[in-house]
Amino acid sequence: MTPNKHEQLRQLPSMTGLLEDATVKAWLDIHPRAVVVAALNWAIDHARDGVINDDAVPNAESILQAALVHLESTSLPSIRRVINATGVVLHTGLGRAPLSQAAIDAVTQCASGYCNLEFDLESGARGRRADHVANLLAELTGAEAATVVNNNAAATFLILNTVASGVVVSRGELVEIGGSYRLPDMMQASGVELREVGTTNRTRIADYEKAIGPNVAALMRVHTSNYRIVGFTQAVDFDELVRLGRDHELPIIDDLGSGAMFDLDRFGLGGEPSVQASVEAGADLICFSGDKILGGPQAGIIIGRREWINRIERNPLMRTYRVGKMTLAALEATLQQYRDEDHARENIPSLSMMSTPLDELKKRAEELCGLLTKRIADAAFAVIEEQSTVGGGSLPDRNIATHCVTWSPTNHSVDEALARLRQGKPAIVARAHRGMILFDLRTIDEKDIQPLMERIAQLAANQ
Ligand SMILES: *Cc1c(COP(=O)(O)O)cnc(C)c1O
Repeated sequence: MTPNKHEQLRQLPSMTGLLEDATVKAWLDIHPRAVVVAALNWAIDHARDGVINDDAVPNAESILQAALVHLESTSLPSIRRVINATGVVLHTGLGRAPLSQAAIDAVTQCASGYCNLEFDLESGARGRRADHVANLLAELTGAEAATVVNNNAAATFLILNTVASGVVVSRGELVEIGGSYRLPDMMQASGVELREVGTTNRTRIADYEKAIGPNVAALMRVHTSNYRIVGFTQAVDFDELVRLGRDHELPIIDDLGSGAMFDLDRFGLGGEPSVQASVEAGADLICFSGDKILGGPQAGIIIGRREWINRIERNPLMRTYRVGKMTLAALEATLQQYRDEDHARENIPSLSMMSTPLDELKKRAEELCGLLTKRIADAAFAVIEEQSTVGGGSLPDRNIATHCVTWSPTNHSVDEALARLRQGKPAIVARAHRGMILFDLRTIDEKDIQPLMERIAQLAANQ
């Protein structure tokens, strides 16, 4: 190295000097010291490499700027809030159902200290964690008993593993959900022999009947959550299947998938079987997700006859699928809201998004469009009517009319603008449509409008 280089390197600010800087002192109020030191080290090393490669000696200010960028990027949580402008209400990639305020409060309460997770406050004895929701589930669904596991995939697995031997399912219902969940694979892994009956499009009660034999332990219905078979089709009426099970003393398992607690026909979203209807029809074991249409935390809810629920709870595998206190707190609070249907619809975010009237969405889209147009005079924003989907493997053939704000960026390509929206602060996920970007008002929360507007304005102004 030339003596001149040595001299230049000596001119770089020292760690001790930088730590005395007022700006850095402010960082130390927010970040742990070791993290700040690591960021400064990174910036100093970077500057040193630059000097060795013949760059000019940077001043302290630019080193601090580089350190700040590094500090912020390494301190940003990896899992973080996202503004969902896609219009997909139960977006699996974006965490499915957002929790209601009541559920958030319940989680905060239970997570910020101790709670009676497995402790009976009446008697002082050891309690059962599912008891926190079992009575509510019984009250709301009419089922005798209930338990909860981590997700509906676990619920199905545990039910099958408990029932064991052969289970009869229609070929039209052998679902794959989101790639990694395939019912036939699940059955095999759970030790159950799958007895497929009927054909993809038509299954009759006689097909089930023929399959019943010494090794068959249950009949199962699986809700075809994420597809529909249309055309020349025939499916067995659920009441008939229940009757057949009764006649042969075989339990009926019903994997509902979504867990609609009331008829969604009211918002033009019919076709999702309700939990109560399945109980009423006489299913022995019913399972559904906590974070699909129910609108609560990720969970798998199992309800049904007490005798069967007890057997499931005695399965040694139950322990591997048990839920934590935060899940139970959120689930109980969510279920409480279902005691009044209107209250649930208004206060559970996913239900309220699914049921927002079109004229309300139009009004919100026009407001956002007006704000954006006022901010960025020469950019092209407009309001269009479009379609939202429910997502989360629910209601595949039902789109809901919605209103979107469109943006035709002039200074970025659509892909580039979408990438910058995703990578910015706040992170925004939107979709492309015919060379424009769409912001679907159905899934954008009121409180997200302002930050969304600011971020779009920044990008449109090329910042
Ligand atoms: C979604 C779904 C599952 C899986 O539920 P998760 O809660 O995502 O584990 C299983 N069965 C059906 C029919 C479903 O729709």
